[in-house]
Amino acid sequence: MGIATLVKRRWPFLVLAAMIFCFPLVIKSSFLMRVGLVWALFAISITGMTLLTGHAGVVSLGHSAFYAFGAYLSALLTVRAGLNPWLAMLIAAGTTSVFAYLFSVPFLKLRRVYLAMGTLGLGEVVFLVAKNTTDVTGGVSGVPGIPYLSLGRFVLSHDWQLFYLFGIFIILFVFLAENVGRTRLGRAYHAIRTNETAASAMGIDVQWELGKVFCFSAVVCAVAGSLLAHFITFISPESFTLDYSFALLIIVIIGGANIWGTLVTSIVLVGFSEVFRVFQDFSMGFYGLLLIVALFVFPDGLAAVLSSKRRGAAAAEASPPAPGRDTATVLAGPRDRGHGEGKILELNGISKRYGGTEALSRVSFSVEYNQIVGIIGPNGAGKTTLLNVINGFLTPWEGSITLAGVDVTRKVPHEMARMGVGRTFQLTNLFKGMTVVENVMVGCHLDGESGILAGGLNVGRARREEAEIGNRAMESLEFLGLTGRAFDIVESLSFGEQRLIELGRALAMRPELLLLDEPAAGLNTAEAERLGVLLRRIREQGVTIVLVEHNMPLVMSVSDMVYVLDFGRGIAFDTADGVSRNEEVIRAYLGQEVRSVS
Ligand code: ATP
Repeated sequence: MGIATLVKRRWPFLVLAAMIFCFPLVIKSSFLMRVGLVWALFAISITGMTLLTGHAGVVSLGHSAFYAFGAYLSALLTVRAGLNPWLAMLIAAGTTSVFAYLFSVPFLKLRRVYLAMGTLGLGEVVFLVAKNTTDVTGGVSGVPGIPYLSLGRFVLSHDWQLFYLFGIFIILFVFLAENVGRTRLGRAYHAIRTNETAASAMGIDVQWELGKVFCFSAVVCAVAGSLLAHFITFISPESFTLDYSFALLIIVIIGGANIWGTLVTSIVLVGFSEVFRVFQDFSMGFYGLLLIVALFVFPDGLAAVLSSKRRGAAAAEASPPAPGRDTATVLAGPRDRGHGEGKILELNGISKRYGGTEALSRVSFSVEYNQIVGIIGPNGAGKTTLLNVINGFLTPWEGSITLAGVDVTRKVPHEMARMGVGRTFQLTNLFKGMTVVENVMVGCHLDGESGILAGGLNVGRARREEAEIGNRAMESLEFLGLTGRAFDIVESLSFGEQRLIELGRALAMRPELLLLDEPAAGLNTAEAERLGVLLRRIREQGVTIVLVEHNMPLVMSVSDMVYVLDFGRGIAFDTADGVSRNEEVIRAYLGQEVRSVS
């Protein structure tokens, strides 16, 4: 990458670095210098919160607990155990990550609102423990005599030195957060926030990813807490009230899913609250008012106002189209699994009840590799339930499912995606606010393995993965003839195009088995015919398809076999011809279809 491109892409970093460099040179007031240091600690803390709340939509009301954790562990390990401050900071960060992960697991398993309540409780508990365990934490008298950080024999005791040190941490964490936000994990967080169901169908392990980003945000706060301890050299519980958590949350909510938006917001808010310290008692009221105004003016955050065009451009850089490549061959192919022979899917006596309704009753049939099997039946016959049972959104209460010879009856959707099952939905389930290509790139989530650190540093394998994912997504779009819309926000596309993009996103998963739930719903006759051609082309690539559909000309023209459901029971499994002559099927379903057409 040339210098000009680097400057063009990374100019906000250059501005940030220049501001950090100039601040101590320009500011001569010690009060303003202190305000700068307070802001710097906020700036560090919000980098993790931007990913957690801005991108993944997880609200924490108690990150002051992790800030306190970092500060107290660092203070106690240096003052009481005589450890080197850097080592103490490292231990504080490591301990916080383990604690945060263990804390998040049960809450994320429930619903995310419980995590918000849990963190609120945690923030208060840590504050009370710090205040009342006088023997360990010094209680309200706090921990005095915390040593400064030093580099060799060079002790960082002056405010300007500390500001530069904090500046290095800011640049490092902002760099990590920005890279994570614009690459595979950032897309996964956005997908989870906007449509958790579709995200898990793309192979994203929602609990695991949220647990990791929660941990990362906690560690970042712990590092900020540790820096605070070695900056003011005295800590007491008063520094770790819930006000800190609320201020962080408000900054991140106003800033939105964009690190630059949250940084600008933090400058304004910290600046105001420090300069108008005499009104400190009203600070939460001021923050609250600001939050209400912001939610009305820009509900998705300040940054969302500017970000859609930039995100499209960023995706364009990350995923250059690959002109001239033969998409018919590159799209081919269930990933690394090879083509099997015989049965890919077998359902044996599957039943599913919703309360008193028996949605599926002893359903049994099998699908051969490389077949298209249509599933038809009247409204409410159980077709969608059947797809949901196959790819793990629902667990059958009796019967078993085998995929490529492996029992998958109790697998969950992200595990099924990993085993090669792609899925589209009856109601279009795209990730709103993302460009077309970003949506399809989420389908390639399993093509990458790099975590927050590797993705954040964006080097080596992470960078290669990102390029491959971009290319693969563009190839899927090329296959569907949609490259011209790649950098548009999905909501701006027509309904028919949105259905195709959902298909493209499922294809980008390189599935072995593709489950399609009424892909022709809402399409006109010409669009439905084009879809039929596409489905045959997809099958030619070695993909097996199970197709739930009410559009009879489409199902009958593409299906090798058709399974007919009526009131949850299978009443026929035959070729299209056989089914269309079957008396029971005509009575139960096809007769209605003919009547409704005529
Ligand atoms: P359509 O063609 O209208 O999409 P379908 O064949 O896909 O219908 P399902 O949506 O699978 O049918 O529903 C099968 C039966 O289960 C219906 O009687 C429906 O009312 C019921 N059902 C589906 N989902 C639920 C649910 N979450 N809770 C209770 N009952 C449900």
